[in-house]
Amino acid sequence: MTEIKNTLKVLEKVCLNPEEYLENIRKEKKIIGCFLPYTPVELIYSMGFHPQILWWYGIETGASSKYLPPFYCYPLKSLLEAGMEGKLDYLAAVLIASFCDSLKAIGQNWKVAVENIEFIPLVYPQNRDLDCGMDFLKSEFLNIIKILEEKFNCKYDEDKLKEAIKLYNERNQKLNKLMDLANKHLDIITPKYRNYINKAGSILDVKDHIKYIDELIAELEAREEFKSENKKVLLTGIMADSKTLLNSIADSNLDVVSDDLAQESRQYRTEIKEYTSDPLFNLCKKWADFEGCSMAHSRENERVKIILEKIKENDVDGVIFVNTSFCDPEEYDYPIIKKALEEKNIPQILIESNKENTSNGQIKTRIEAFQELLNS
Ligand code: SF4
Repeated sequence: MTEIKNTLKVLEKVCLNPEEYLENIRKEKKIIGCFLPYTPVELIYSMGFHPQILWWYGIETGASSKYLPPFYCYPLKSLLEAGMEGKLDYLAAVLIASFCDSLKAIGQNWKVAVENIEFIPLVYPQNRDLDCGMDFLKSEFLNIIKILEEKFNCKYDEDKLKEAIKLYNERNQKLNKLMDLANKHLDIITPKYRNYINKAGSILDVKDHIKYIDELIAELEAREEFKSENKKVLLTGIMADSKTLLNSIADSNLDVVSDDLAQESRQYRTEIKEYTSDPLFNLCKKWADFEGCSMAHSRENERVKIILEKIKENDVDGVIFVNTSFCDPEEYDYPIIKKALEEKNIPQILIESNKENTSNGQIKTRIEAFQELLNS
C-alpha cells in the first residue's frame, strides 16, 4: 500500500509542480510546448526534443484580453497570458495544432504577443478518410521537420521515429491496462489520482511514464480487489482537470470508472499501426484512425457509440459532461450525447468547468444532487 501511495504521490507532484521535473529535463533536451491534444509528440520526441502537452496554466488572465475576446476558452487564454508573463520561457518553441476556431486564431496572436518563443503551426485536415487528407498531413509534418532542423540543428531519422512510435504505443497499451485495473481498486485510485496518472503523461518523458505505470500495475495486481458500493460515473469532455470537481465527485461517493476526455483516454486509445515502412505516413494514419472527439470530424457520430460502449463495459450509472466554458466543439456535441443518453435512460449532467469560475460551491451542490438522483 505504501509503495502505491508513494508512486501516486510522485505523479501528483509532477502534475502540481511540473517546473521541477522539467528543469531536470531541460539540462539534456529542449522542450517543445504542444497546445492541447493530438500533436505529433512521437515525431518531436524522435528528433531529440521533450514534448510537453500544455492544457492550461493556473493564472489570472488580464493582459491576454488585449488579444483575445472575453468569450475565448480559458485554456488558451491562460496559456497566452503565461507566455506573455514569461512563465513559459523555458520552452524552445510552441507547436499549435489548429483543431478548432480558437486554436486557429491563437497562433497569430502568439506570434505578436510572445515574440521570444518560436511558434510552429500545424494544420490537421478534417477529411481524414481521404488519401489527399493524409498527403496534406504528411506535408504539414514535413514542414515541422524542416522548421526544427533549420532552427535547432537536428536531423529527422526514420528509425528513431519508428522507435518513438513503438515506445508511445507501449505506453498507451500499458496505461489502458492500468485504467482497467484501477476499477478494481477504486478505494485507492480515486478520481483525483486517476487524473494525475493520465495527466502526468503530458509532462513526463514517455519512458518515465511507462516506469510509473509498470510500478502501479505490479502494485495493484499484488493487492486484493476492492468491492466498491458507490455509483459509477463516466466523464466526458476536453478535461476534468479541476480539484473542485474531482473532489466533489469523490466526496459524493461516486467512482469514476471510465472516461472520454481529451486529456485522458482520447489521447491514449489510438494505436499507431504499421501500415507501411514509412513511419511518418503511419503517424498520419493515426489521425485517420482516431475517432470520437469533437475536434475530429466524423461522418457518423462515433463519440456517441464509444461512450455507450464504455457505459456497457464498465457498468456505468451516469455520465458527467464536463464542458470547458466557451468551448464551441464540445458545446455542439453535448445535445447529441444528451439525446442519445436520454433515449437509453442513462442519467447525465452538464458541468461547466472553468479554472477562472467562482462557482465552486455550485459544482459541489450539483454533483451532490446528481449522486442523489443516481441513488434514487
Ligand atoms: S477544443 Fe475547446 S477547450 Fe480546446 S482549444 Fe478549442 S475551444 Fe479551447
